[in-house]
Amino acid sequence: LIQSADRQEAEQKIAPSVPPQFKVEQFAEYQDLCQRIESAGEVNPYFRLRQGINTDTVMMGGEPYINYSSYNYLGYAGDPQIIAAVQEAVAEYGTSVSASRLLSGEIPLHGQLEAAVSSFIGTEDALIYTAGHATNVSTIAKLVGKEDIVLHDELSHNSLIQGCLLSGAQRVSFPHNDWEALDRILTRTRGHRRRALIVIEGVYSMDGDIPDLHKFIEIKKKHQAMLYIDEAHSIGTIGATGRGICEYHGVDAREVDLLMGTLSKSFASCGGYAAGSAAMIQYLKYLSDGFIFSAGITPANAAAALAVIRSLEKDPSPVSKLQQNSRLFLERCQQHGLNTGLSGDTPIIPIIVGGSERTLKLTEYLYRQGINVYPILYPAVPEEAACIRFFMTANHNHEQIEWTVKLVAEGIHSFDKEPVML
Ligand code: PMP
Repeated sequence: LIQSADRQEAEQKIAPSVPPQFKVEQFAEYQDLCQRIESAGEVNPYFRLRQGINTDTVMMGGEPYINYSSYNYLGYAGDPQIIAAVQEAVAEYGTSVSASRLLSGEIPLHGQLEAAVSSFIGTEDALIYTAGHATNVSTIAKLVGKEDIVLHDELSHNSLIQGCLLSGAQRVSFPHNDWEALDRILTRTRGHRRRALIVIEGVYSMDGDIPDLHKFIEIKKKHQAMLYIDEAHSIGTIGATGRGICEYHGVDAREVDLLMGTLSKSFASCGGYAAGSAAMIQYLKYLSDGFIFSAGITPANAAAALAVIRSLEKDPSPVSKLQQNSRLFLERCQQHGLNTGLSGDTPIIPIIVGGSERTLKLTEYLYRQGINVYPILYPAVPEEAACIRFFMTANHNHEQIEWTVKLVAEGIHSFDKEPVML
């Protein structure tokens, strides 16, 4: 007995120490999230597994669903030509460039993609990062610093805010799309600041609306500020040939200091770009952290985006198909008396249901009817503005659109008759 007690003690001494427990209860943000998911309904709507390509339809649990939750706006993510270009690139360069581009990671596809992006948009040059999020964080943080001011729309994407925070500049948000308020803020604050940067988006991902670019350019000039536009949702989707907000408003892209975009949406890949003057791009290429201290974009991702841009330049018909689909969806919503908020001329169409419970019920009902779409609930939006957000693609067809809007309208109108029948 004594022996075995000794052995136990000795074993305890040499046993690997149990790693300290991660105390999840200390993280209030996570606790809130869990509570929200739990009270949301029957099924956790996050990380739902799907098979196949994310396009107008998706396979989930072996069943087909009409899909309105994909950023594959132009449908290129499943295009055989794009897939073939990726296969060729992987065969030639392998699966990774295995280094930062600054050192041994540079391959010809990188420069070709940057030339294609800048010529497509109409800027002098462009630089490719490995994610849209990293692009915003790394570029904004390098354009302004402690002695500067950065002014961003109140509905700016997380990556834009992170970039602003990292920069150390004084950060001020202005009311959504309100260039007059921006003008007043700049009049008050610009004064002694070394640099001022205005940050907006080409299409806002919550409301699907487009800012008045002419006004923002006027204000940037008046206050000698720089203008930064995130085109994550506008590149490939607006403008007659998909060249984004400058084409949409008939503005020379060189009027904007930096046009940023993602490769993960219309360009069917993964990554981000910053496009602007040759001098600015050269500066970012040597000094922006997310570019220098990160491996270069993979051959597969570079090849996919390059093939999409080349295809779009030859044949922009997917852009008009997307725009026709979005218009039809919006028109039908209006005919059914549905509230689509600020949306117009873009492939992002929120249908405001009002109230998280009703919105969740309607989303679940649509899911049971074979439609995959996601709700936007409080606190992402005010409770009364809870909505279901539809992302259109060039691949949707008229029957899908007519049927979907009809179902949504029936669902929403049934809420007016108690009890809720969905
Ligand atoms: N900016 C905006 C406005 C976005 O919506 C997103 C992602 N949805 C990003 C940047 C980040 O892009 P990515 O997912 O390609 O990293």
